[in-house]
Amino acid sequence: MLNFESVAMRYADGTQALGGVSLQVPAGQFCVVLGSSGAGKSTLLRMANGLVKPTQGTVQVEGVRIAADSLARIRPRIGMIHQQFNLVLRSTVAENVLAGALPAMPTWRALLGLFSDEARRKACELIESVGLQEQHLRRRVSELSGGQQQRVGIARAFMLAPPLVLADEPVASLDPQTSHDVLSLLRRQARERGTTVLCSLHQIELACEFADRIVALRHGAVVFDGAPGAFDPQVFDAVYGRAPAAVRPGGHIAEPEVVLPLHTGVLELAQ
Ligand code: ADP
Repeated sequence: MLNFESVAMRYADGTQALGGVSLQVPAGQFCVVLGSSGAGKSTLLRMANGLVKPTQGTVQVEGVRIAADSLARIRPRIGMIHQQFNLVLRSTVAENVLAGALPAMPTWRALLGLFSDEARRKACELIESVGLQEQHLRRRVSELSGGQQQRVGIARAFMLAPPLVLADEPVASLDPQTSHDVLSLLRRQARERGTTVLCSLHQIELACEFADRIVALRHGAVVFDGAPGAFDPQVFDAVYGRAPAAVRPGGHIAEPEVVLPLHTGVLELAQ
């Protein structure tokens, strides 16, 4: 359902963020992308909704290649959840969740804020399903806790019942318990609807608990692709520390040369 075909990204300043990553995420999978800061996680996610255009390779969502002329059609099919929530703080919870319907509305209705009754009903349902109550509907988002704000972000992402949701470090600014609650909620919402989720995380323990599959990046390359149960200390070293070995799809240990760093001049694998 989501297909990255040999995608590479070199930013204008010469930074090589991703180098030839291929990845197929089947429908309904909760796929977590792990990796330390700068590994290329955001770049990969942003390619999936056309915010970053790969300098090489292609991305397809439901068989449709992401390109300038297909974006308007694809965007409403992709929900996005952000690290900093990206909500309008001065607006109410209801207004923020309703904003999730904007990509599918004609511009004039969107500009006038003319949401259909169906959209209003859906927003109320979602607000309830993420654990907020009626009294929150008209509350400004700025008056909510971080965890509650991310619940609003999740409700907004599901407004158009998208088959794909991208979550870019959705719990990075939340405390451990709230992070756990928010990811449980995200997974439940996704499972109930059969939604595919590509979610980047920092926290390995959360990845192991919630992911169907973990894909780990290092220096813009996939160094692990497998089940959470296969993410052992050796894999940890390959992803975060000095890498004695890389790990191939299925969780098998492979030869070190497959993770040669992309950054020129950095020979981390030199023994
Ligand atoms: P992560 O999400 O894993 O922290 P990113 O995808 O944000 O990684 O970044 C990967 C690399 O690309 C980093 O070296 C980062 O500094 C660089 N990068 C990200 N965005 C840009 C940009 N707009 N211009 C130049 N370099 C960028």
